[in-house]
Amino acid sequence: MTGNRGVARLLPGKCIGCGERCLQSCPKDAIAMDAAGAPVIAPERCVGCGLCVRACPAQALEMTGGAGAVQVETAADPVGGDDFSAWRGVWVVVEQFAGVAARVSWELLGVGRELANKRHTDLGAVIIGHRVEPLAAEAARYGAQVVYLLDAPVYASYRTASYCAAVCHLVRKHQPEIVLLGATGQGRDLAGAVATRLATGLTADCTGLDIDERGFLLQTRPAFGGNIMATILCERFRPQMATVRPKVMPLPEPLERPSATVVRDAFAPDEALIAVKVLEVLRAQGESEGVDIAAADIIVAGGRGLRSRENFALLRELADVLGGVVAASRCAVDAGWIGHDRQVGQTGKTVRPKLYIACGISGAIQHKVGMASSEVIVAINSDPDAPIFQIATYGIVGDLFRIVPLLTQHIRALRGEAISA
Ligand SMILES: Cc1cc2nc3c(=O)[nH]c(=O)nc-3n(C[C@H](O)[C@H](O)[C@H](O)COP(=O)(O)OP(=O)(O)OC[C@H]3O[C@@H](n4cnc5c(N)ncnc54)[C@H](O)[C@@H]3O)c2cc1C
Repeated sequence: MTGNRGVARLLPGKCIGCGERCLQSCPKDAIAMDAAGAPVIAPERCVGCGLCVRACPAQALEMTGGAGAVQVETAADPVGGDDFSAWRGVWVVVEQFAGVAARVSWELLGVGRELANKRHTDLGAVIIGHRVEPLAAEAARYGAQVVYLLDAPVYASYRTASYCAAVCHLVRKHQPEIVLLGATGQGRDLAGAVATRLATGLTADCTGLDIDERGFLLQTRPAFGGNIMATILCERFRPQMATVRPKVMPLPEPLERPSATVVRDAFAPDEALIAVKVLEVLRAQGESEGVDIAAADIIVAGGRGLRSRENFALLRELADVLGGVVAASRCAVDAGWIGHDRQVGQTGKTVRPKLYIACGISGAIQHKVGMASSEVIVAINSDPDAPIFQIATYGIVGDLFRIVPLLTQHIRALRGEAISA
């Protein structure tokens, strides 16, 4: 643990009564609030971690008495010191909207299960919301053994402040070794806020997760513009935090006989202290026309080889006859031929369809990281050396302007035969 590095002390007259930020930051419950809203520190409980000093917006706290008094904004103080034996368990923070969980959360329980097995520890799911109890059973079906449930009106809509306070509270109380979140808009926001508040490491957009014999989470993700895959370790801080994009990990098979312990926690931040209020929720109306390529089973994707926006009509015909959707490489998106919400790859979406047909796409690494896990990949390219053929299940070398209409025609004919038979 942090040892004899002194204790926190309140500087007279500086506390602004901001609302318990110091109290919430303390991992040892060494801080209580007096009637005036100022912190009272129990020196015998304080371990000198300095988190309250960092959390205080008014610099009203300081460290005293220890050999190495903690400086504000010092980044190198490990939370909990070098001995991490008290940190146990793999957690997934479940993302939900109006009581419906994001599929990525269940995907993360799948990889979380593997990590937990290797560490001989429990797999936990954190569910925060209002009237979200039914999600506990769903989390159990996807493998959670412990469900930490925070159900209160203050969590009805996602807000960084309330959800961050909730996750930090649970982490300080139960000390999980690993915390995983989906790399969605909400997950990215929450993970960054939590990691900052806990002064720990976070690796965003991982494409692979494993664990070594020392308990270090091996967090693999593209780096340097996607030209290399980097494996990142968080050796000196806990918990180890990572986000993973939807569809990167497979959805685990639901358990037939799930069983989980539900740990209900009454922690709820005071609504009056949360500056952001949700007045109305509006759904974005974009170019996607309601299409989510990440959820599609069949994708017909086009690249620079398509040559124009108009030529995407060829792909739409093929997608229609197959019951699929159209997607694209970044080159096609940058050229303005199709909307960004259809982009597959490192700076677009990750997809894992049953069938991915790549037309006029070379197969750059930044594209491949977004679609390489597709079940069947068909590549159509006039260049026999195009890198896309290295990962294709079936490759067709030739002119897409001849091949795509032929494919559409042929499938239509087969469909017609099937209907009349
Ligand atoms: C930081 C960073 C992030 C990036 N993120 C992404 C990303 O998210 N998604 C992404 O896709 N890219 C991304 N890129 C860009 C990526 O490096 C490639 O430039 C891009 O994927 C290439 O797109 P393309 O395959 O359509 O075009 P090209 O590489 O130009 O390939 C066009 C292909 O079409 C073939 N072709 C041409 N005419 C025909 C024809 N008539 N019939 C059949 N084949 C034909 C050619 O042989 C060629 O292989 C990123 C790059 C960087 C640096």
